[in-house]
Amino acid sequence: MIKLNGKSVSPGIATAEAYVYNPGNHIVPRRSISGKEHDSESRRLQRSIQTTRRQLKAIAGNLKDAMGDDSALIIGTQSQLLDEGNLVAEIEKTIRADHINVEWALTRIEDKYTKIFQRIQDPTFRERVNDISDLLQRLQRNLRRNKGKSTPSLSNVILVARDIAPSEAAYLMSRGNLRGLVLSEGGETSHTVILARTLEIPAVMNVERAHTRIRSGDALIVDGLSGEVLINPDNRTRQSYHIKQEKYASYLERSRQVLTLPDRTLDGRDFTLSANIELPMEVDLLQSYGSVGIGLFRTEFLLTDPGVAGSEEEQFQIYRNLARRVYPKPLILRTFDVGRDKQYGTFAQHPEPNPALGTMAVRLFLKDPEFFRIQIKAALRANESGNLRILFPMVTEIEEIHSLRRIVGECREELEKEGKKTLRETPLGIMVEIPGAIHLIPHLENAVDFLSVGTNDLIQYLLAVDRNNPSVSHLYNPFHPAVIRSLLEISSAATAINKEINVCGELAGQGFTALMLLGMGYTHFSMNPVSIIEIKRLFTHVHYKFLCRVVRKLRTFSSRSDAEEYFIEQMVGKYPDLFTQQSLF
Ligand code: PEP
Ligand code: MG
Repeated sequence: MIKLNGKSVSPGIATAEAYVYNPGNHIVPRRSISGKEHDSESRRLQRSIQTTRRQLKAIAGNLKDAMGDDSALIIGTQSQLLDEGNLVAEIEKTIRADHINVEWALTRIEDKYTKIFQRIQDPTFRERVNDISDLLQRLQRNLRRNKGKSTPSLSNVILVARDIAPSEAAYLMSRGNLRGLVLSEGGETSHTVILARTLEIPAVMNVERAHTRIRSGDALIVDGLSGEVLINPDNRTRQSYHIKQEKYASYLERSRQVLTLPDRTLDGRDFTLSANIELPMEVDLLQSYGSVGIGLFRTEFLLTDPGVAGSEEEQFQIYRNLARRVYPKPLILRTFDVGRDKQYGTFAQHPEPNPALGTMAVRLFLKDPEFFRIQIKAALRANESGNLRILFPMVTEIEEIHSLRRIVGECREELEKEGKKTLRETPLGIMVEIPGAIHLIPHLENAVDFLSVGTNDLIQYLLAVDRNNPSVSHLYNPFHPAVIRSLLEISSAATAINKEINVCGELAGQGFTALMLLGMGYTHFSMNPVSIIEIKRLFTHVHYKFLCRVVRKLRTFSSRSDAEEYFIEQMVGKYPDLFTQQSLF
């Protein structure tokens, strides 16, 4: 058994086989099959073998022209492996004995041979494994080709990777039943991690070289509470984790009771908690967190499924369904926040020298509005009951807001001409996440209906720290004096113009920072659904007035570590019981 350590970023414990994902490779669909499917899987294998034989023959012909008879040594070995029949028989046997699909069987066999050949001393012989791997991968590719567009499914595995781009993560996590996630790198506020949390997938990141130390097929335990990852654990360890898992489940069950309490602090300050979602399917999870609205729908994740967000009609159906599901609570729909770390579909084609400061989000919208107009029209139509609002990301200046409002007006007129109803007023808001936008707030009384603070980007741009880069993550800190002062300023400026302000960055869902925000005067919090119970537990057991006093003092610190230490000390000193429950795990 090997134990690795990392940072827990999504709570829970998972036990399953590892699947090491290399973005250069295709995902291999893994499916358990019934006895009835053995023959059809076998036929798929035979078709792939036929295609492979044809290809090997063609390659051999081409190579022979270029290299003469030596070429036989390269390709001949693979043809021989197929002709001898032992390897094919082994694949067939694995499908039938292990009841798994052909792709999975091929991976298992490849892993087996890689392990065997690694132990061989003679390097020439050891390299023979390349022939086997190459052949098995060709069979995999031909299975995909025979099937048309592949739809990978990662069922019941723990995904291990160096890092995964958010678009890939959405694609992988929305299919199959992913049990856990282990990343060698990653950023705590990266969308991959956010997605894992929302889908309640236990995750650990910053596990040094996890993707090279763990092999596909290894038995893994991922402890998203302590940040430990165990490779091939012994029975005793498995049992102790099983007990821990049960304890955690019963803790969650008990914590759920706070959902019945009113949304109010001990001294009567009201607050509202809502959920951030990335994929429409996540709305199903919300029921278990009480009746909450959607404070942030990151619609750009729709673009990970090619074609889904293409048409107004398809988007309309998705948005209307979500608005109905959370009614009468709000659905805050953020327009496509594409660009920089969110490279999706057609938007991935415009590389810029400094994407984090380039054409992104509403900048793209205003530069090339056609695609976004479709989204606006779909959203306006979907607001049947008046609970849908539109939120614009990464706004820099008031001129952008004026242009956006004009486009929304034009979209409404177009819809009317087309005879499509938009009976309700749809409130329009902006994200405050570019530091410069903070100073716009006093001028926004007539320009916006509501505001939403994106603390993830706000901190990144305020402190010039890439939120996805682990080597600078020590500088990404919410207790930095600039962050504290900015958050205070946003809260008081929004109150002065009498606008509702929501906080939807990750700080809203993390215990101490959420308490800090409450003490700063914020009342609307939108977070990863998995954090709702914990934040409600904390908020309903503290005094708002006490938090205000502590926050007032926070302004005076020049050092972020002193400020953080002071805040935590005050909280734990005043409410010791509130925080001991967390350390149970
Ligand atoms: C943020 O920046 O805080 C935010 C909520 O938006 P995103 O994480 O999608 O950039
Ligand atoms: Mg943002």
